[in-house]
Amino acid sequence: MSDKNRIDAPALEALHAALGADRLRRDVPLAPFTTFKIGGPADFFYEARTADELATALLVARQTGIRFFLLGMGANILIGDLGFRGLVIRNAAKHTQIFPEKHRLWAESGAIVYPDLIELAVNHGLSGLEHYVGIPSTVGGALWQNLHFLSPPPERERTMFIEEVLLEADLLTEENERKTVSVEYFEFGYDYSVLHRRADIVLAATFQLRPNSEARMREIMAANLEWRALRHPPLDTEPSAGSIFKKIQGVGAGRLIDECDLLGTRIGGAEVTHRHANIMINRDGATAADVRALIAHVQDVVKRETGYQLETEISFIGEFAPPSEAAPYKAPKPPDVMTASERIAAQKEQAA
Ligand SMILES: Cc1cc2nc3c(=O)[nH]c(=O)nc-3n(C[C@H](O)[C@H](O)[C@H](O)COP(=O)(O)OP(=O)(O)OC[C@H]3O[C@@H](n4cnc5c(N)ncnc54)[C@H](O)[C@@H]3O)c2cc1C
Repeated sequence: MSDKNRIDAPALEALHAALGADRLRRDVPLAPFTTFKIGGPADFFYEARTADELATALLVARQTGIRFFLLGMGANILIGDLGFRGLVIRNAAKHTQIFPEKHRLWAESGAIVYPDLIELAVNHGLSGLEHYVGIPSTVGGALWQNLHFLSPPPERERTMFIEEVLLEADLLTEENERKTVSVEYFEFGYDYSVLHRRADIVLAATFQLRPNSEARMREIMAANLEWRALRHPPLDTEPSAGSIFKKIQGVGAGRLIDECDLLGTRIGGAEVTHRHANIMINRDGATAADVRALIAHVQDVVKRETGYQLETEISFIGEFAPPSEAAPYKAPKPPDVMTASERIAAQKEQAA
């Protein structure tokens, strides 16, 4: 570890005083806190249980100059095998409140979108969040990336974004000010918000929902969960970070990867799943070095074969060992798994 990344004694004392020595843990493996189940240890680790604790942890880290990372559900990141030098603040601030007469739901930013938020809203007959059923995300992560999914079946004619139901959010700004901002502040785009360019932190958010019948919302949820089960690797047995590469307008990263015959390509324990060409899974004790090598291999092949340069959608956090040097090979498709092209062919056959 380089000395400049070490936490010195006065900074550590300030951390202890602000957060409590018993709550600040050392050398905590981060893999279990990510959906990929990959990543080395954090030198220091703190779990914030309320929005105030979160603000305090961020302020003390900023004031002492300690390097920090704010972790939600770890569903859109790859953490390096060498871990994180500094403080990882895990957002476990999960309080929620519903205002049925105003059709509003308030949640601290560590609240989990599904099931916690969605069940609360749907049980109160409030609609707007149910589209995001089955997506692993905290409220903070959802605003960071502008969580999105397709509109309900049968049309599925457009992409819906969480910005559509966000009313306002409480932030700790880059300038260490606590303030409430409206949805416009976020400059939302596809996989984008102002949080990508400003170090503001979401402490809590208020969603403006609409009344709807619970039966209709449950119908949408069931359809969306079925859609996911057919296309996505199950997280409990095939850990992943969702889509690895950004969408390319008009083509789709997954289609390019499939066209280049890369389904099932493995390096070490990391694999391009047959289920979804744009998702890599931790098949067998994958390291971040395996995933990085697989990403580079896929990018090289796609560039060579199609001319497109794939860009990663996930964030790379902490310190990485050099990418694995193991040679890529193709793993056979498990008999119970359907690829996207097989699914489309089966649907066409059924329709004919
Ligand atoms: C199987 C699977 C399916 C997925 N499907 C979809 C999908 O359909 N649609 C979709 O949009 N995404 C999808 N994703 C991606 C992922 O679920 C989202 O990006 C999600 O919003 C990540 O939230 P998180 O809490 O895990 O954030 P993390 O991965 O923990 O963090 C992501 C970034 O957000 C920052 N952040 C977290 N909390 C805050 C906060 N309070 N304030 C400021 N910054 C913060 C972090 O510092 C980090 O930079 C999928 C992922 C998986 C694994």
